Amino acid sequence: MKSSGLRDEYRNVRLLLAYAIRYKSRLALSLVCSVIVSVLSVGSLTMLMPIVETIFQPQHRLVEAEPSADGLHALLAPFYRFVDYYAQSSPFGTLLCACVFYLLLVAIYGGFRYVHEYMSRWIGHRVILDLQRDLFSRMTVFNAAYFSRNRVGSILSYFTVDIRVIGMTVFNAFGRLMLEPCLLLVSLAYLYWIHWKLTLIYMCSFPILAWTIQYFARKNRKAARDVQSYMARIGAFLQEHFSHIRLVQGYEMYDHQKNRFWNEIIGTFRASMGMVKAKAVSSPLNEFLGLCAVCLILMLGGYFIIIREEMNGSVFVVYLAVLGTVYQPIKRIEQSIQEIQHGLAAAERVFGVFAIDEALPEHPQALIVDSFEREICFDKVSFSYDGVQPVLTDISLTVKKGELIALVGPSGAGKSTLANLIPRFYDPIEGAVLLDGRDLRTLQLSALRRLISVVPQDVLIFADTVRTNLTCGDERYSQEQVIAAAQAAYAHDFISALPHGYETTVGERGVSLSGGQCQRLALARAFLRNSPLLILDEATSSLDSESERHIKLSMQRLMQGRTTFVIAHRLSTILHADKIVVVDGGVILDIGKHQEILERCAIYRRLYQLQFLEDEQSSPATRTESAAHST
Ligand code: ATP
Repeated sequence: MKSSGLRDEYRNVRLLLAYAIRYKSRLALSLVCSVIVSVLSVGSLTMLMPIVETIFQPQHRLVEAEPSADGLHALLAPFYRFVDYYAQSSPFGTLLCACVFYLLLVAIYGGFRYVHEYMSRWIGHRVILDLQRDLFSRMTVFNAAYFSRNRVGSILSYFTVDIRVIGMTVFNAFGRLMLEPCLLLVSLAYLYWIHWKLTLIYMCSFPILAWTIQYFARKNRKAARDVQSYMARIGAFLQEHFSHIRLVQGYEMYDHQKNRFWNEIIGTFRASMGMVKAKAVSSPLNEFLGLCAVCLILMLGGYFIIIREEMNGSVFVVYLAVLGTVYQPIKRIEQSIQEIQHGLAAAERVFGVFAIDEALPEHPQALIVDSFEREICFDKVSFSYDGVQPVLTDISLTVKKGELIALVGPSGAGKSTLANLIPRFYDPIEGAVLLDGRDLRTLQLSALRRLISVVPQDVLIFADTVRTNLTCGDERYSQEQVIAAAQAAYAHDFISALPHGYETTVGERGVSLSGGQCQRLALARAFLRNSPLLILDEATSSLDSESERHIKLSMQRLMQGRTTFVIAHRLSTILHADKIVVVDGGVILDIGKHQEILERCAIYRRLYQLQFLEDEQSSPATRTESAAHST
């Protein structure tokens, strides 16, 4: 169990690295800059020595120190000669020279630091972009079952929360974890060079620091994982709440929803507190350990200066200044490691999605079909959503080209599920659906779907222009074709009356359309696609009689010359169907023409009578039509 966890962790780190390593040249530039920044950062501190020496011994000529040639003085020899030449006569001239050099080094350091920071942040943001693009493409081909199992809000959080955290991690890993260890190494090397004994003693504290950093990082990772999954749940809750706001307001669900929301956010709060605890303990603890080590160095430094006379005061000042810079990288490395834990928890979630294979399988030699010639056949098809509860059992049905098939049955009978097997939104668990004798699983999915237009029960409108809603982004359609499709669906008049006609933005960000107008757009979309197979899931919501008449006429027009499956909720629309298929409890009870099954199928008779009563109460026209067919 533990080893598989480690394997997953290793795999996630590898995947993450693969995303960043695509930008090798920028990474290399960033690395080079971090080395230069580290050298300049430590080197600039060397300028403290002439400053200290000049302040404490104004009569002392810097160049006199050269012959002693301990490490630091030897390093500064060229600088001392330069100062001696120009400003030795004046202590203030020496100070000015040292300060100007110091500022110059810091300014150059700033330039390289900018390039390093920009490059590492660029890589972090680019990884966000690449991951969002790849996850989007991957999820778009996931099958319908995945989307019914996972709430939209929690899917959104992969894109908005998790991937952003991963981006920060990449910055931490390739920005801070490149620069800070460099700074640390250069500083330690410099300290070692100045006084190796003191430095070795100081370094004895490192294993303890490393252990505490690792201990708290592990705690932090677990808390981060909890926070991220709570964030996903909050996203899902909010998405559902605000998209159902009319239901919430209409049924006064305020208190119920407030309680549910509270339960979600309190979970995040508790998990966040777990993270805060780990962070709040680890930082001061490491700071305390670091300061213990510095105090030890102060004591020992005093010993080496006063008792052993191995070091002079100004060298010790530089030693302490560089020692001060050692602590900062350690602290930032510790912070980065904590933050990287959040990123690894997020990477676990995101790469988990990459790892699952939810796309419908496509045959290696999938056939590209471009026409529908003879028939669609359901051959002993069974289906279940969860693999346990059967939803369709042993369905056998043959539909000839050009036929109108009506799927009829009580609610939950399995009508939509049966129709959803045709465009392969799902695959049967037993049996096969055949198109012109070929199993749908052997056909190229996109080619199959091009043969089918689906007009779903809930009309879906994108927040985009009317034109894009009709063409679904396919730019091959001409304006004439778009207008002809809209005319056929009785939609042209209302579209022309919109502020910018076909270029008007509709949906969430634009003009709101009525239910009937949306349905006509959906029908126009199907006219434009002009596929030989049509699946019409009749809308259940009732419309005003004008809209209803237009939609009915448009549907009749759309069905002409096509093989149509109608999931019928109003029986009056399917009385002329070539075959009425009565489904109940996932099995086919009867197949036949209206009159035949009215006589022999009790369920159909009951549905018909119920509808007949409803129609009688509502529309005299439908009543006449229905009555004519019942005799
Ligand atoms: P209606 O006329 O009310 O639309 P229907 O006859 O079209 O109903 P289906 O939507 O096919 O019925 O549903 C058949 C059964 O499958 C029902 O019990 C339903 O609860 C279940 N079901 C439908 N969709 C899913 C899904 N995405 N995940 C799990 N179960 C589902």
